Parts: sequence; C-alpha cells; structure tokens
Amino acid sequence: MALLLDMDGVLYRGSTVLPGVPQALDIASTQGYTLLFATNNGWAPHEQILDRLHSMGFSAEPGTVMTAAIASARLLHRHWPATRRPYVLGSEEVARQLRNAGLTPVPSDDEMTADSLVVGLDLHLSYRKLTHAQAVGLQGVPFVATDLDGAYPWEDRWLPGSGAIVAAVEASVGRKATNAGKPSPLMYELLLECAPPSSIPVVVGDNLKTDICAGRSAGFPTVAVLTGIASAEAIATAVPEERPDYVASDLLDAVTRVLPQILAVSDGPVSIVR
Ligand SMILES: [Mg+2]
Repeated sequence: MALLLDMDGVLYRGSTVLPGVPQALDIASTQGYTLLFATNNGWAPHEQILDRLHSMGFSAEPGTVMTAAIASARLLHRHWPATRRPYVLGSEEVARQLRNAGLTPVPSDDEMTADSLVVGLDLHLSYRKLTHAQAVGLQGVPFVATDLDGAYPWEDRWLPGSGAIVAAVEASVGRKATNAGKPSPLMYELLLECAPPSSIPVVVGDNLKTDICAGRSAGFPTVAVLTGIASAEAIATAVPEERPDYVASDLLDAVTRVLPQILAVSDGPVSIVR
C-alpha cells in the first residue's frame, strides 16, 4: 500500500503536531506501507518540510515529499519541454525549484524575454508585479499555477492563498492557468514513481476540494480525516466528486482501523487514470 498523505490538517495544524501522528507514521512504516507526502504549500523550502517530518521522528527521502513548487517545475518540463525562461510571480522557493529543474527564471525588468509564466503565493505581491505577469501572460506563453487554494489557515485565521493571486492574473490575461497543485492528480502521479509498482495507492487528506477530489479523479480509495478543514457535516453533504470513500477521526484511526478495511476489500493495485 502507498499512502498519499496531505500534510497540514493531517500531520499538523500550523506549528502543532496533531495527537497520535508520530505513532501513526511509525505503525504505517512498520506495516511496510510506502509513505508519500503531497502538499499544496509552494513557498516553504523543501528542506524545511523534510525537517518537520524529521522532528516527528520520521525520516522521509527527499523524493517522497512533493510540494506545489516542485510539481510546477515538473509540469512545465513535462508539458512544455522547450521552455527555458519562466517569469515567476511567486515565492523564492518556486524560483529555486525551477532553477533545480534546469530553468532560468527571468528578472522583473527583463520579463518580456520570458517564455512561460508561473504564478503562486507571493508574500510581496504588488501591482507592479501583477503588471509584469500580465505582460508575459498576454504573449500566450504556457501559464502554470502552483495551486488554486484561495485561502490558507494561519494560526487562528485565514489568509489569501495562491488561488487569489492566480485569479487576478487570469482575469488580467483572459485565460486560465494549468494547475500543478491538488485537485490535479499530478502530484500523486509523480510521487507514485517512488512506490513499488504493485502498491495500492490510498489518499489521506483533510480537504475535500483538493486532496479527496484529486484522489477520486485518479481512481484511488480516499480517506478524509477530521483533524483539518473538512467537518463531518461537510463530508455528509459533499458533491459526489469530493466525497471520500472512508472517514477517520485522525491519522492514527485511519492507519489502524480504515487501512485494514481497504486492504480487505482491495482486489489489487489500481493504476492512475490520466
Ligand atoms: Mg490539508
């Protein structure tokens, strides 16, 4: 079994590790499950996310942790292999992952030489930066969004997410971005390259519109946990494409009670639907 785990709302909330999570990760790896992590967070450095897992007593291989920043770089490479010079309206982490993939993000004063546009959460957003992104986008170049999350939880409130910035650019250029983040199943597809081919993929997440929807569109069993965004009421009234197959109170409940049920009814590995 390959667990495709969301992070915020499943493993931790803000800076607090959720109860039972270190134990759940330990049990899951003892059972021989492959643990894979997929987060729409596109601004935290990859190493910082690995350190976070390490602080929970879990050592993850770098390739088993997929962020929206890495997925964006992989998406550009996969769909538009000739692109070399993206203009980035987003975090330094996005620019860094594009450089790691062999691309050369162009500076703001040279934006008209860009051959692609990548937009995500930019904590230093300005009207000037939006103007540059619009100029690039109006040239008809490939246009990628790290993710479309309109808001994200921070401490005890919500802040505007990448999706809010992507929407501004989309409105100014008159076309939609290609989304690298969940609910696109791209991250799951990329992560499963790290899993043994016979693994049964199972999605565990707290967000119906991203994690569960991505899992359903890929054709994988999905488990919603109640430690994050989705409430029991929201799950009960969810539209079919966002309705999880199973509900668990938390990750420990998912690993100890729900996963054995999934294994019991499984008739073998499911291949991803592209
Ligand atoms: Mg989450």
